[in-house]
Order: sequence, then structure tokens, then C-alpha cells
Amino acid sequence: MAIQEPDQPLMTKLPVAPPPGQQLAAKDYKGALPPVWCPGCGDFAVLACMQKALAELQLPPHDVVFVSGIGCSSRFPHFMNAYGFHAVHGRSLPVAVGVKLAMPDKTVIAVGGDGDGMAIGAGHFVHTARRNPKIAYVMMDNEIYGLTKGQASPTSELGLKTKSTPMASKQASADQPVNPLALAIISGATWVARGFSGKPKELTELIKQAIQHDGYAFLQVISPCVTFHDLYETAKAGHKNLEPTHDRTDKFAAMRSAMTEHWATGVFYEEARENFGSALDKQKEAAKPRAATGLVALMNRIKG
Ligand code: SF4
Ligand code: MG
Repeated sequence: MAIQEPDQPLMTKLPVAPPPGQQLAAKDYKGALPPVWCPGCGDFAVLACMQKALAELQLPPHDVVFVSGIGCSSRFPHFMNAYGFHAVHGRSLPVAVGVKLAMPDKTVIAVGGDGDGMAIGAGHFVHTARRNPKIAYVMMDNEIYGLTKGQASPTSELGLKTKSTPMASKQASADQPVNPLALAIISGATWVARGFSGKPKELTELIKQAIQHDGYAFLQVISPCVTFHDLYETAKAGHKNLEPTHDRTDKFAAMRSAMTEHWATGVFYEEARENFGSALDKQKEAAKPRAATGLVALMNRIKG
């Protein structure tokens, strides 16, 4: 059930609609604000790929909603010409799910970083995956907290020396990193992939697939923080595509690849399963007769 568009915007900003019938180009999705990221930040490439993907899908800006949490990459909605909701830390996913349930016709894309999604947002990540709402979540992973100037994040490698883990080598980050792809697969996400900001053509294709997937699509993007933890050369040297023989419908194979292929890109897992909105609609329909019967019984009790 779609609700009426409110007179006053619920979002933090409104998109500029192109003239009717106009063929949309990537530049039509550029927001009024220029990105404020450090020169060379991987998030620039993700932004450009997102704008290209939306243009290739010809999705009108007023049909697209971006929802973010807090962090460098969570500034993303401000740089897009689309609806945008800059939510609170770790809460992009529940807000995105709410937006999708209220306005099922919109394309809803949650965006953010590894700190936002894998630490304070990790609980929401798991429960969003198991519910399978038709939203895409693009997590820009730089394995560091960038906005707060370089502390170890949930995806930082074991032993990484940072401002919050200042001891050398083995006494440095003592926490085992979270594996976002494996967590997504085991939690029930129905489309799980990894892209790299250094491979923009492939990343654009992956974003398009994530948007078109009929369920929860999780796309981890290796997006290096050139200022506080520059993984660009390491990611470039280690990068490879998933083997062409990789069976994305095999959950065990997907888990194995997710656990062993740190720099590989491609679609690790895909599954067809009813999405959350559809399942809820069915529950609402099924509850209607019972609700009506209960109401009649209540009225009779009150009358009698
Ligand atoms: Fe990008 Fe890092 Fe700069 Fe943040 S601090 S904008 S993640 S390069
Ligand atoms: Mg980060």
C-alpha cells in the first residue's frame, strides 16, 4: 500500500526533476553540493558509478531515495540529485526499510561505511538481511574510521596500528575483523557482491544489479581512504575477479569464497526469495478477517 506524498518533505532535501521525456545522463544525478571528500578518496569513484548506473537504468531522480548513517561515505546523499535522508549513526538500514515499506514504488538505496554498518549498525545489518526487503545497501569499506581521523574499524585487519591501536605489530588491533560478505550470506541476504572503486566499469554493473535485485542486495565496495589508511595499491595488486566457474547459487561455495577471497570482486551469492514487503502485504490480508471478527465480538461485548 503506497501512502500519499506529503505536502511537506519528510526527507532532508527534494530532488530536481528533469523535464518530462528527457533522456537522463549521469550529470542529472549530481547534487547541488560538491563532494567534500579528500582528493583521491575512493568514494568519488563510487559516487560517479552510482550516477552512471542510475542513468543507465533511466530511474528518475524523484523515484530514488538515498539513506545514510554517519561517516565520510554517509555524506553521499548530499551529493546526489535524488531524495536524501542523512540518518543517525548505524541506522541507515531501518530507515531505508521504513521508507521502502511506506513508498514501495521508490528505489531505496542505503549507503555508508564499514564503521557505520559493521559496528553500531551490525544488529540492523543482520535483521535487515533476514527480512529481505527490496533495497540495496552499498557499503564503502576502507577498513578504518576516516571521519574521526583514523581509528581501527570493525573491518581493520588484525594487528593494524592506528590512532586507537597505537602499539606496534602484535599488540596493535587485537580484534578479529568482521567479514561483511560472510555475515551477509549467513544472515540471509539474497544478493551479495563486492566491487572496487578502482574498477569503475564493473562497479557500475554491480550497482545496477543490486538496484534491480528483488530483495536485499548487499554490495561491499573496497573504497580506500587515501588519508588515513590507503589500501589502494594493496587492493589493486590483490584484485581478481571471482572465477567464472563460481556458482553464485551455492551458499556453501559463496561462504567459502567470502572467507578466502579478500580482494576478489563479483557476485558471490544470489537467491530468489519473497521480499519483506510482499510477505507483510500477505500477512495484512490474512489478518483482515480475524481483525473484523474480533471487532464485531468487541462491539457485541460493549453493547451487551
Ligand atoms: Fe575519504 Fe578518508 Fe578523506 Fe574520509 S578521511 S574523505 S574516507 S580519504
Ligand atoms: Mg570506514
